[in-house]
Amino acid sequence: MASHEEDCSPDTLAFMELAIQQAKLAMDSLEVPVGCVIVEDGKVIASGRNRTTETRNATRHAEMEAIDILLEHWQKNGLSKLEVAENFSNCYLYVTCEPCIMCAASLSILGIKEVCYGCANDKFGGCGSILSLHLGSSEPLKSLGVPQGKGFKCTGGIMASEAVSLLRTFYEQGNPNAPKPHRPLAHQATH
Ligand SMILES: [Zn+2]
Repeated sequence: MASHEEDCSPDTLAFMELAIQQAKLAMDSLEVPVGCVIVEDGKVIASGRNRTTETRNATRHAEMEAIDILLEHWQKNGLSKLEVAENFSNCYLYVTCEPCIMCAASLSILGIKEVCYGCANDKFGGCGSILSLHLGSSEPLKSLGVPQGKGFKCTGGIMASEAVSLLRTFYEQGNPNAPKPHRPLAHQATH
């Protein structure tokens, strides 16, 4: 897996910049700041940001948001499963943080062409950190009858410092949505 920012094309950096803007929108909404864009033929065709808090659904990661926009759009246009797969095979995903295992598996099954990410996801990363789902399906999954992932080309470390600094700022401010320890408040005595 390459991780040399200086080798990136100006386009790659421009698309990652848009992904970072999505992450900032997430931060403004008190969500963990992760954002992404999906690009086809040099054009952004979908974007997404983390919405796990707003939706109260731990699976609404930035990648899932963007994928669902495309699936809905293509299904509305009457595209067949084959045509949807063909479209995904021409798409690039730019995401500020390494896709987690769930998102990496989804991207692999959908057959996305290429993924570029910012910082590594040391806890849940599915593109090299914990599992390497971008390399395609493995034998243990096959035996479970799980849909087969085709794998995808993957490059990490693109504008990683920007991505990390957003996450760091978010966690340093204290996640307002994190469960708080129960502490009796002084004013409660007056109620
Ligand atoms: Zn994810």
